[in-house]
Amino acid sequence: MEPSPRHETKASHKQTAERSLSTPLERLPGVGTARAEKLIRLQLITARDALMHFPRDYRDFSGAHRITDICEGEHASIAGNVTDVSSRTTGLGRQRFSFLLACAGGHVRSVFFNMPFMAKRFAVGMRVVIAGSAKKSGTIWEFTHPEVRWLSAGETASGSEWLAVYPLSEGVPQSLVRTAVQAAIAHAADLPAEAFPEEMLREKSLLPIAQAIREIHCPSSHAMIAAARRRFVYEELFMLQLALRMHRSQQQERRSAPAIAIDARLDSRIRARFPFEFTAAQRRVATEIAADLARDEPMNRLLQGDVGSGKTALAAYAMLAVVGTKVPATTPHADASPPLVSQRYQAALMAPTELLARQHVATLQRMLSGKGGSVEVELLVGGQPALQRARIAARIADGQVGIVVGTQALVCGTAKFKNLALVVIDEQHRFGVIQRALLQQGQADPHTLVMTATPIPRTIAHAIYGDLAVSVLDEQPPGRQPVATYRVGPEQLEKWWEFFRKKLSEGRRGYVVVPAIEESKRDLASISSAFENLANGPLEAFRLGLVHGRLKSKAKTAVMDDFRCGKLDVLVATSVIEVGIDVPQATIMTILDADTFGLAQLHQLRGRVARGATQGICGAVTESATESIPRIDAFVSTTDGFKLAEQDLLLRGPGDLVGTRQSGAPPLYLADLLRDASVVAEARRDAIALFERDPTVADPKLRRLHELIQRRWGEKLGLGQVG
Ligand code: ADP
Ligand code: MG
Repeated sequence: MEPSPRHETKASHKQTAERSLSTPLERLPGVGTARAEKLIRLQLITARDALMHFPRDYRDFSGAHRITDICEGEHASIAGNVTDVSSRTTGLGRQRFSFLLACAGGHVRSVFFNMPFMAKRFAVGMRVVIAGSAKKSGTIWEFTHPEVRWLSAGETASGSEWLAVYPLSEGVPQSLVRTAVQAAIAHAADLPAEAFPEEMLREKSLLPIAQAIREIHCPSSHAMIAAARRRFVYEELFMLQLALRMHRSQQQERRSAPAIAIDARLDSRIRARFPFEFTAAQRRVATEIAADLARDEPMNRLLQGDVGSGKTALAAYAMLAVVGTKVPATTPHADASPPLVSQRYQAALMAPTELLARQHVATLQRMLSGKGGSVEVELLVGGQPALQRARIAARIADGQVGIVVGTQALVCGTAKFKNLALVVIDEQHRFGVIQRALLQQGQADPHTLVMTATPIPRTIAHAIYGDLAVSVLDEQPPGRQPVATYRVGPEQLEKWWEFFRKKLSEGRRGYVVVPAIEESKRDLASISSAFENLANGPLEAFRLGLVHGRLKSKAKTAVMDDFRCGKLDVLVATSVIEVGIDVPQATIMTILDADTFGLAQLHQLRGRVARGATQGICGAVTESATESIPRIDAFVSTTDGFKLAEQDLLLRGPGDLVGTRQSGAPPLYLADLLRDASVVAEARRDAIALFERDPTVADPKLRRLHELIQRRWGEKLGLGQVG
């Protein structure tokens, strides 16, 4: 709302802009300290962060709904006249502001708590559009903290209005993110620096940055959503490509990795540690990885394979090769005493969740026990006491720990490796170039293996990662049978539970998955009540355990262990079990409210019961039996993960695959990239052409572009301040 300063020199304008973009959200009107603290969970700290927090979807904000259209908890948008405003303090000392809206068919109420400034924004007679989800309060529908759009005198509530829906985090509601973004737009939307010179914007038909920011958050039409997104996709990829090229040309001589040669002896020693023979596909990929590791140039390989195809086994193979290889003696120092044991290389495995990290440790320790098993495997996760972590970090630093398994934040944040030769990133559905650079320590770069169950077309993979190699595991281990998948409508539910119970009585173990969007307190209450309902209802006769994301990691592990060893028959779980959890005896699953899950997520979930030799069974419970839900239809009709993933990307619209968020840049949405594959290719081509013309990006017209690349990628990629 503050007018941007006009009468200033260019340089000081730039400083002022920088300051305003860095304004803590806490200081913006309507945000305040308590809310700003919550926003930190989304890494939203400054006005700039909020501007760059892009919507993942859009909702109707047209005001076209009638009172009779309103359903409890569902999105609705109502237009009308403000008729009655009131401010008071509630018994609990909260400031409450409300107004009634006279609209087609009656009245609805809007309520705001602890937002005293709202009182100044509304007066009787104003015409507004509100949007949000309503709850019945007595006889009237009540919207708490709805989004509001003020209509000017002649303006009608046209149907071309869209409300942004943002990615959230635990305990950070949509309304809060919207408030922060709106405040940031009022404060600083015009201030981010334009990366592209004017003629380039024109030539490429790209929206200028300020307009793109406004349109992506508050689109003036549906077409503008696409235009705004196109600009950011182009910008992001163009800059990333340039940065990668600059990085490579600077690093050309310096890049080296430890060469890990896997000879026949090492190969058979490692293979002997697996309780199964590799599939042909695994053998092929193992050879590809071995060839990469043998070179003194860092491997940069992406391994794609459907859930259960044995990716983790290949990661273990590569890690065992690394820790089985001695570090060559460096030029001896006269005064250095010889090391007691010759050192071996180290490997790090980063898992998406703590639960999965623990499971990997258990698997690796099992493989490494027995003769000759002197490799130390350590876990690094948030649940550990700081002191314990510090001790492990020290042993990593002096090279004693062979394999470190943990979550990305911890492994990157805590560990300094002595002889790191390989980094494996498991179940990566998020894409970014940064993790490579994060673990570059010492003189040598480690080899990198990224594993994903989400297929990415090669062109897109190249655009995101630079030129990387891709391996595909296109074969399931022998004896696997596709999971028999059923859709269960309300009328069949009773029958389904009967079937589920019968299978449990025959000795199967089972999962019941309950949805939880944010695992907030409210979700937690609904998870607990779902659990109670099962325990006192259809699954009364069985031993049930419960895991969810809010559980302390110790408790989580204990429940998982009980389930694994058969002390529990059924694990009731939120999607924390989604990725990679491996309990072969669990072969039947019920997914409650299946329509609230994404397709890829459903497939991941189903993968949990596709592990053993017994055919897995999965029931997807939906609210209606007949209504066509494309996602559920696709889920039931095929078990081919690659097909489903493609379908998913088509169905989903704006995707939720987050990219380079941590780097302070807006996220790259894979769905956008796929849909806009031509923009991806174009940005890459243009960037390469520019690089060939001007490898240091020294053209004065591109000064700002260069600055922005430095700011965004300089540190991450170790770009020197050239030019
Ligand atoms: P992914 O990570 O691709 O989902 P995993 O590596 O976790 O798959 O393997 C899934 C399950 O299949 C594990 O229980 C693993 O032990 C088993 N497995 C992997 N490869 C084979 C194989 N070649 N033969 C038999 N079982 C295998
Ligand atoms: Mg896995």
